Amino acid sequence: QKRTEKSRVGIFDESLREQLMRELRLRDHLENAIHRHELFLVFQPIIATNTGRIEAVEALLRWQLDGEMIPPDEFIAVAEQYGFIRSIGLWVLGEACLAGKRMQKHNPELGVSVNVSIQQLLDDDFPDEVAATLKRTGFPAHSLDLEITESLFAHDKKRLIENIRRLKQTGIQVSIDDFGTGYSSLSVMQEFDVDYVKIDRSFIWSMDTGGRAIVEAVSQIAASFNYKVVAEGVETEEQRRLLTNMGVEYLQGYLFLPPTPEDELIPHLL
Ligand code: C2E
Ligand code: CA
Ligand code: CA
Ligand code: CA
Repeated sequence: QKRTEKSRVGIFDESLREQLMRELRLRDHLENAIHRHELFLVFQPIIATNTGRIEAVEALLRWQLDGEMIPPDEFIAVAEQYGFIRSIGLWVLGEACLAGKRMQKHNPELGVSVNVSIQQLLDDDFPDEVAATLKRTGFPAHSLDLEITESLFAHDKKRLIENIRRLKQTGIQVSIDDFGTGYSSLSVMQEFDVDYVKIDRSFIWSMDTGGRAIVEAVSQIAASFNYKVVAEGVETEEQRRLLTNMGVEYLQGYLFLPPTPEDELIPHLL
C-alpha cells in the first residue's frame, strides 16, 4: 500500500517536472522565435452564409521548433506568462496586414481578423501601435478586425472600454471571440461596442444534442444589439444547414477550409 502511494507521488513529481522543463524550454526559444523565422501565419476563411463567398480570413499563428509544431494554445500562454506577447502580437499584426494587402489583390474587399491578447489590449500604447501598423503597411483600417476573447472582459473594464473606443476610432472592427465560454456574456454584449460575436465552437458541436436553442438564443440577442454573428468550428453539412436557417451571417470551420498558408489560399479567393 505504502509503496504504491510513494510511486504515485513519484510519477506526479516527474510529470510536473517534465511540464516545467518544457515550459522553460519553450520560453527560452520563444524569446528569439521571431528572429529565427520560426513563427508564421496561416489563414482560415470566414464564409458569408448567403453567398458562400470568402468574406474574411482569420490569421492564426504557428510555431515550428526543431521540426515540432507547438500548439498555439500552449505557446501563447507561455508568451503571455513571460512577457513576450506584446512583441509577438505586434509582429502578428504587421504580418497579417502585409499578407492582407497581398491577398486583397485577388479579392479587394477581403477582411483580415487578428487575435489579440488581454495584455495587448490593456496596454495604452496599443491603439496607437495599431494605427501606426495600418499606416506602415497600407492595409485599410475597415478591413482589419481584432478578435478579443470574451474572458478578457473580466479585467480592468474601464481601461478596456476606453482602449476599444480608441481602437474603433482608427476605423477598425472588433469581435468578441469564443462567445459563450465566459460568465458575463450578456453584459459583455451590452457594455462593449463591438461589431461581431463569434459563437464558440463547443456550442456549434452541441447542436445535434440540444445545443440548438442556445445558438439560436445567442444569435437572436446579438441581432438585437446589431452585432453580426460568426459560427466557429463548422464541420458538417447539417451544422451549416441549421446555422443558415437560423440566419447566422458568417460561418468558419473545417467544412470549408482549415487554416491554410497564404499561397494555397489564393486560388480560393478568386
Ligand atoms: P481561436 O481564436 O478560437 O481560433 C480558432 C481555432 O479553432 C483555431 O485553432 C482553428 O484552427 C480551430 N478550428 C477552426 N475551425 C475548426 C473546426 O472546424 N474544427 C476544429 N476542431 N477546430 C477548428 P488554433 O489555430 O490551434 O488556435 C488556437 C487558439 O490560439 C486560437 O483560438 C487563439 O485563441 C489562439 N491564437 C492563435 N493565433 C493567435 C495569435 O496570433 N494571437 C493570439 N493572441 N492568440 C492566437
Ligand atoms: Ca479567434
Ligand atoms: Ca474562437
Ligand atoms: Ca480561443
